[in-house]
Amino acid sequence: MTATAEPSHTAPDTQIYERRESIVRSYSRAIPRQFNRARGVWMHDSNGGKYLDFLSGCSTLNYGHNHPVLKQALLDYIAGDGITHGLDLHTDAKADFLTALEDVVLRPRGLDYRAMFTGPTGTNAVEAAIKLARKVTGREMVIAFTNGFHGMTLGALACTGNAGKRSGAGVPLSHVAHEPYDGYYGPDVDTAALLEQRLADPSSGLDAPAAILVETVQGEGGLNAASPEWLRRVAKIAKAHGALLIVDDIQAGCGRTGGFFSFEGMGFTPDIVTLAKSLSGMGLPFALTLFRPELDIWSPGEHNGTFRGNNHAFVTATAALRHFWSGREFAADITRRGRLLERRLDRIAAEHGLATRGRGMMRGINVGSGEIASAITGACFEQGLIIETSGPHDEIVKVLAPLVIDDAVLGAGLDILERSVRAALTPALGVAA
Ligand SMILES: *Cc1c(COP(=O)(O)O)cnc(C)c1O
Repeated sequence: MTATAEPSHTAPDTQIYERRESIVRSYSRAIPRQFNRARGVWMHDSNGGKYLDFLSGCSTLNYGHNHPVLKQALLDYIAGDGITHGLDLHTDAKADFLTALEDVVLRPRGLDYRAMFTGPTGTNAVEAAIKLARKVTGREMVIAFTNGFHGMTLGALACTGNAGKRSGAGVPLSHVAHEPYDGYYGPDVDTAALLEQRLADPSSGLDAPAAILVETVQGEGGLNAASPEWLRRVAKIAKAHGALLIVDDIQAGCGRTGGFFSFEGMGFTPDIVTLAKSLSGMGLPFALTLFRPELDIWSPGEHNGTFRGNNHAFVTATAALRHFWSGREFAADITRRGRLLERRLDRIAAEHGLATRGRGMMRGINVGSGEIASAITGACFEQGLIIETSGPHDEIVKVLAPLVIDDAVLGAGLDILERSVRAALTPALGVAA
């Protein structure tokens, strides 16, 4: 297999989608091809085109498409008539997953969490987290942050900042206060200090919170990365005010920022953590809410879901944990490759007086407007690179390459990005004219 993208330039017949699929579809508009096969970092379309994937299912495919170790584990399991669906019954697959979670993730990090299997999407894990926080504290209000993204169901959507997403609710989104994230007012304003001041003031109008819900790097909100100091202070504030600290690690976790959890080594431990996206490792739906054992005050069945505990996902997640996370090499490799990515993006940005954002293998360039960003991602796509945008105005071009990408292939993709940024921002050539 050659290490170059070879896109096709023929759009497929889309009549069936226009006739039968809801207008709500979105990624297929910017990426108008019909895909039929994918392996590692490459996707193939029905016209023989080959594309390099710098979107990775929004960080759902951290180990690439159809990783051979994960695929084989699943094939073996299916061939042996392993349980596919079992509600929340005990299964070999579930026991193996919980054991791997304990052996590979929790014990080596000195973490003591109970695992709650929610419905299989990220928003389910967030719903369970905030429901539990409200139940434990007897309080209603949740503090979330500007530009936070937590999902589309009503509870999680109430915690999401984006007006376009919120407008779909059709009912008031309540019981959430959106406080300024780290850096929201620029580098000179410590927004954690502002939060502390508001919570300490009995007349600020801010009710005592059940939880503080935070992403360490805002995936959809523009790749803003909170500093460890800010996060530590927020953790301290939560504790001081009897609120539970929830880290939504659905996008930044599973290695995207280096460690398995995005908060590792920062000197605080969340009360609750949500995981989904890359947790199954192969793109199978799977979500998890982790919390301190003392918080486990649910009644049996009080929060459930038909598809909680997707046994195929247990199998691939177990294979992913054991294959990638048993030693320290993978995290070290992500950190090293993340620095490589940082250097390249800094150079591209510097050429045009732009700024970069993010942490680890979760980085992007702020190109100033959604129009310029979409010109850049469009030009990338023409050259066979699938890449998307993020941020309040979709102004951040976001690199979410699979974590397992070869350095040379990563470099080749960034060459395409560099050319596309140059084309869009050189007045004679692009939209800036
Ligand atoms: C994607 C995402 C969610 C929602 O997950 P779904 O599977 O789309 O419901 C929640 N929080 C964060 C940080 C995410 O990136």
